[in-house]
Amino acid sequence: MQREFIRNFSIVAHIDHGKSTLADQLLLKTAAITEREFQSQILDDLAVERQRGITVKARAVAIYYDYTGPDETSHVLPGMEVPPGRYELNLIDTPGHVDFHYEVSRSLAACEGALLLVDAFQGVQAQTVANAYAAIEGNLEIIPVVNKIDLPVTRIDEVLNEVETILGLDGSTALRVSAKQGLNIESVLRALVERIHPPKGEPTAPLKALVFDSKYDDYRGVVTYIRVKEGTINKGDKIRFMKGGTSHEVLDLGQFRPNMVACESLGVGQVGYIITGIKVLGNVHVGDTVTHAGRQAAEALPGYKQPKPMVFCGMYPIDATDFEHLREELDKMALNDASFSFAPETSDALGFGFRCGFLGMLHMEIIQQRLEDEADVDLIQTAPNVTYQILKRGGEVVQIDNPVETPDAGVIEEFREPIAKVTFIVPSKNIGVIMQLCGDRRGIYIGTEFLGPDRAQLVYELPLAEIIYDMHDKLKSVTQGYGTMDYEVIGFRAADLVKMDILVKGVKVDALSTIVYRGFAERRGRALVKKLKEEITKHQFEIALQAAIGARVIARETISALRKNVTAKCYGGDISRKRKLLQKQKEGKKRMKQFGQVEIPQKAFLSVLEAG
Ligand code: GDP
Ligand code: MG
Repeated sequence: MQREFIRNFSIVAHIDHGKSTLADQLLLKTAAITEREFQSQILDDLAVERQRGITVKARAVAIYYDYTGPDETSHVLPGMEVPPGRYELNLIDTPGHVDFHYEVSRSLAACEGALLLVDAFQGVQAQTVANAYAAIEGNLEIIPVVNKIDLPVTRIDEVLNEVETILGLDGSTALRVSAKQGLNIESVLRALVERIHPPKGEPTAPLKALVFDSKYDDYRGVVTYIRVKEGTINKGDKIRFMKGGTSHEVLDLGQFRPNMVACESLGVGQVGYIITGIKVLGNVHVGDTVTHAGRQAAEALPGYKQPKPMVFCGMYPIDATDFEHLREELDKMALNDASFSFAPETSDALGFGFRCGFLGMLHMEIIQQRLEDEADVDLIQTAPNVTYQILKRGGEVVQIDNPVETPDAGVIEEFREPIAKVTFIVPSKNIGVIMQLCGDRRGIYIGTEFLGPDRAQLVYELPLAEIIYDMHDKLKSVTQGYGTMDYEVIGFRAADLVKMDILVKGVKVDALSTIVYRGFAERRGRALVKKLKEEITKHQFEIALQAAIGARVIARETISALRKNVTAKCYGGDISRKRKLLQKQKEGKKRMKQFGQVEIPQKAFLSVLEAG
């Protein structure tokens, strides 16, 4: 394929503005899939994506479009030649949620342009802004697209105004489509050809291909996703991963259309996959550069800034013999998702497991669900915490990914927590409640900007620990669903923090320790033991639950002793009900851990989340 006839683009938008639906339409209109194969959000093929209706992983697809030349609605880029002909359009679908910015930024680095989708009613939202800025920073051509013009109520003119004032893009060139009904999809295909530059790069230069993703296939081993920047890669070539340092033969290569279709070679600007028979998962690094083993490129491509996990939790197999199996599955997960990290750890309470790092809470939930769906291991997950820094008296700075690691108060010079810059876009009438909400959470007000007559953007600096658990839910509830938020971690700041321990029947359960702001400690301690009381079932004896800071108990609850037998309630022989109850108890047991004499269910470990 000549590079003049290639266009590489992403679709970026706020969540639910229609990216995946538009991707479906582009596939359908270019006959990459047939009407019969057409199912909604065809690229969202992970079980978790289908269940939740959201995109988690970026996807690449090559489609072919027969361009017939400009018409009166075209806005061809100045100086660009667009001969009629067959064009290869490489589409990279991206997730919209804040936790997956990393996927977005990686996708953008493999493209020259982006379709920026904005919902015709909702207008510009927090992630529209974040994604548009990422595309602008990446120097991409941005094509604004107002989607959902079929909605009974739209605000197209206001939306275009927002696109101009907030994003600084020219609203007059925006396309107006309905991805759902397939309206004006042709105008999108045309604009991709006319308004995005073809890839640059020298076809005869030494090979440089960017590894932008990879996944593990049980039969074929590691499948590496690449975008060729310079040179050509052929089947049978001997290649080398420049950072990984290993060499391999290209056993197979091809494109996603949307299924894997083999071809003989990939040239400058093309996007596809290579299979090299690698079975060792650690050998492929996202952001690495593929070159030829013989004729090597002088230097590697810049790659990606490795994202730092900010949220951590413990994952422990319920059945200790699953430990090695869990390790293998975590390895595969880390290969498919470079922003996920893990390391072995032990807990007095839970035994051998792993400390896992995530970019945010949704990321954590998704990984946990994928582990259960794809790997079939039952897990106990501990409550998540953010990462902290401690400056010790001697001047040493240590990172704390688990509250248990907190050193004694005596050696701590400064306890630091991550701070996020949070951007809210809300109806103007909700500004007051948002300020209240942020004030209650130790927020520092930065500024307000009005986006139109009745919408405003508020910026705050807030401790990450105060926003990740439930800020999004609170925001939705106080704005009746109209508010959106986005955040970015900007650094660490000293705060008055302490470790709070939980004692169950006098014994400290390490997996329940948390780090809290001292001023909130008593309130949180009381809420937590109350919540634990609800989660832990009665035993044959009384169980004391205590929250403590050091040796000082700050809250206490007692679970009274059990008198009746579980099945006693079902006297009168309703056998099926009785069986059901026992069955339920058995299932519940799977997710329990024994601490001395006390059984603590999985849910109790997450109580911290609800004990705000
Ligand atoms: P994504 O999160 O940006 O990928 O959004 P999806 O493609 O998953 O779409 C979110 C929701 O909006 C789905 O329920 C779609 O059916 C709906 N949707 C997408 N495009 C349109 C459109 O043009 N009109 C209407 N009315 N609904 C749409
Ligand atoms: Mg999607």
